[in-house]
Amino acid sequence: MKIAIYPGSFDPITKGHLDILKTGAGIFDKVIIAVARNSEKKGFLPVDERVQLIRESITHLDNVEVDSFEGLTIEYAKKQGAQVLIRGLRAVSDFEYELQLSQANSALAEEIKTVFLTTKPKYNFISSSTIKEIYLNNGDISKFVPQPVYDYLVKRKVC
Ligand code: ADP
Repeated sequence: MKIAIYPGSFDPITKGHLDILKTGAGIFDKVIIAVARNSEKKGFLPVDERVQLIRESITHLDNVEVDSFEGLTIEYAKKQGAQVLIRGLRAVSDFEYELQLSQANSALAEEIKTVFLTTKPKYNFISSSTIKEIYLNNGDISKFVPQPVYDYLVKRKVC
């Protein structure tokens, strides 16, 4: 059974992330989308709410599970019995960082391979930080995030 981990901040999950996840779910037997609990990086949304929003956004994907983890991604991947890490690439600017990260992970556990996926062009530019910026400046984010995230953020603004 080929298990892949898709790790990240997902703060919040976007249609770009979902597109990567859908492709991964079509390639691997099981994909675990795992939210990193990073005590040094103050997030926009609490990790438990990010996990809940992912759960509500992936009901159409049977072989995808959601989780969160602390510490090294590669250690988490080993614990889950995964053979693959999925990362997404948007532009050349992502490439340098992602290549470095994958090489560091490979040096820590050679048996776990990083696979890079891309999205459909219409989702390519989407990032959680762009969405936060648009949302905080009262722009329309409905095209960029799954419905549960949109509903959650609209409600949050009203409260
Ligand atoms: P991180 O903080 O680990 O970069 P993110 O939630 O920002 O976490 O992203 C997780 C992964 O998804 C990263 O590999 C990122 O490059 C990728 N990703 C995010 N948005 C897109 C997108 N629109 N197209 C392709 N890859 C994406």
